[in-house]
Amino acid sequence: MTRPVVAIDGPAGAGKTTASRALARRLGFAHVDTGAMYRAVGILAEERGVALDDDAALAQLVAGLSFELAEGGERLLVRGAGPVSGTSGRDLSDAIRGPHAGELASRVSTRPAVRERLVALQRDLGAGGGIVMEGRDIGTVVFPDAAAKLFLTADPTERARRRAAELRARGGEVDEQALARDLAQRDQRDQGREHSPLRPAPDAVVLDTTRLTFEAVVDAMERVVRARWMTDPP
Ligand code: C5P
Repeated sequence: MTRPVVAIDGPAGAGKTTASRALARRLGFAHVDTGAMYRAVGILAEERGVALDDDAALAQLVAGLSFELAEGGERLLVRGAGPVSGTSGRDLSDAIRGPHAGELASRVSTRPAVRERLVALQRDLGAGGGIVMEGRDIGTVVFPDAAAKLFLTADPTERARRRAAELRARGGEVDEQALARDLAQRDQRDQGREHSPLRPAPDAVVLDTTRLTFEAVVDAMERVVRARWMTDPP
């Protein structure tokens, strides 16, 4: 049986990345964090002095980029992103973490030129199936025919608390109030934008993770995927 594409969407801080990674491991699938791709574009635009609303310059920037996943999707390598060693891409996995990269991503992701190119690259990455892809528009735009779709959400306070814990674990300083404001702003921008706004696909299973343990979230996701995969083989 062909291995499916699993689409995971939801707002910032809902636990998509860790849960998707664990789910992919259980299924033996690769994991693609599409937020990381938008973050990389944001960081590169800043590095090259490209204004975040300059569509022509952004189009030129993304046209020259391609992405490669290493370590089952744990690391993101970007080709066409400047300093490279050998034939592989530049490893931006660490540079894209943190609230500043998230803010840049949220802004460049409103630009159609950026979305068009990244969606095309994401479709290429998922073309062979056997992939858990997470983001904001995976079930609605990137893979509307995905075999299984989940929309992960949680209360804003809980999402801010999780984001803070994650940043602290990375050794960063955290201003929780600023973080909550930043998340609210990103929610608003992601949901209100003209192109590919954040919303659950009509056939997505919505999972509120506010009161669930991490294990319970991954168990629930796995049940959905296995049920859809068995009853609706691609
Ligand atoms: O998921 P993450 O927080 O890393 O995403 C960063 C930003 O990238 C989001 O706030 C959103 O604006 C944007 N994004 C998007 N479409 C995706 C993934 C991320 O617009 N598929």
